Amino acid sequence: MKPSKPIPVTSPLLPPLEEFVPYLERIWDSRILTNGGSMHQALEKALCAYLGVEHIALFANGTLALVTALQALRITGEVITTPYSFVATAHSLLWNGIKPVFVDVDPVTYNLDPAKVEAAITPQTTAILPVHCYGTPCDVDGIDRIAENYNLKVIYDAAHAFGVSDGRGSVLRHGDLSVLSFHATKVFNTFEGGAIICPDARTKQRIDHLKNFGFVNETTVVAPGINGKMNEVCAAFGLLQLKHIDRALARRAEIDALYRRLLAGTPGLRCLRPAAGVTGNFAYFPVMVGDEFPLQRDELYQLMRDNQILVRRYFYPLISEFPMYRGLPSAAAENLPVASAAARRVLCLPIHPDLADADVERICGLVTAPARVRAA
Ligand SMILES: *Cc1c(COP(=O)(O)O)cnc(C)c1O
Repeated sequence: MKPSKPIPVTSPLLPPLEEFVPYLERIWDSRILTNGGSMHQALEKALCAYLGVEHIALFANGTLALVTALQALRITGEVITTPYSFVATAHSLLWNGIKPVFVDVDPVTYNLDPAKVEAAITPQTTAILPVHCYGTPCDVDGIDRIAENYNLKVIYDAAHAFGVSDGRGSVLRHGDLSVLSFHATKVFNTFEGGAIICPDARTKQRIDHLKNFGFVNETTVVAPGINGKMNEVCAAFGLLQLKHIDRALARRAEIDALYRRLLAGTPGLRCLRPAAGVTGNFAYFPVMVGDEFPLQRDELYQLMRDNQILVRRYFYPLISEFPMYRGLPSAAAENLPVASAAARRVLCLPIHPDLADADVERICGLVTAPARVRAA
């Protein structure tokens, strides 16, 4: 058999190089490479329009945006968050000297379970940091209700949720702040990048100060801010990317539909699906490998890898299992049964606009083969 090219789980949206050249020429002509130049301003405006939000602050990456969002709201003490996420979610708390308190996730959405949040609140709790995992919206009403009752701030890690809406509008409008990542592996990328969605101009201004060392003018520094600014080349790439994003999302939707059709009825395999009324972004294609499937998740993972399909176990291990978190009382597996089971069962299949139907067919053929052998 001829060796095939490896298929990555994700692949960056990368428009034709010649389309990027005019942007670079404009940057060279202006001689402004960063510090809120014209590309940065244009991308903020274009993203507000595209995402249907009023105020956005661009960042060099999503992690700096998370760290800064917590500082902007002066969050301290303890913050309730999910263990079922990328490690940067909880790391942003440690970078601020905040104690993460892990709460289990919902068995359908794999997002923070509001029913379990209340029991984790202590006098030190100041905020909730949920994640719209895989772009599936959190139970925002449930989280809002608790936040209001206990006077807590809510910052959504919306790194997976670019372009997701819930029928009433962008999912990014919820909470006190929402944070996006534009890393190369995400649906929309600026090589590296991120953003904070802000509710008002005043909050955006504070965040803009915090991402520029705390400078408010040439001689005044009001906070120990970080350097979190997005540069002009990255902002320009975002502008170009926006021209291609609808096509990319449409192709993702087709691939998602094809996977669902080809995997339907496979015993022991469950595809996650967004709730009714949600316009998703098809950023991930997670499947849960159940007891009825002939292979364990890790056996299926290895089978796929051996066939050059670079599937990933998002999210395994749980954040709460990493050495800097596992000593926390809330990190105990008994406290997180749903997340622990998900981490043992989940497998993310490749999904990105470059995939051909034939690739998806080959992937599904491999995934379903063990079940077909058993049925025969
Ligand atoms: C990608 C990601 C981040 C971090 O974003 P970077 O831009 O890579 O710093 C944070 N949270 C989640 C859930 C992510 O997937």
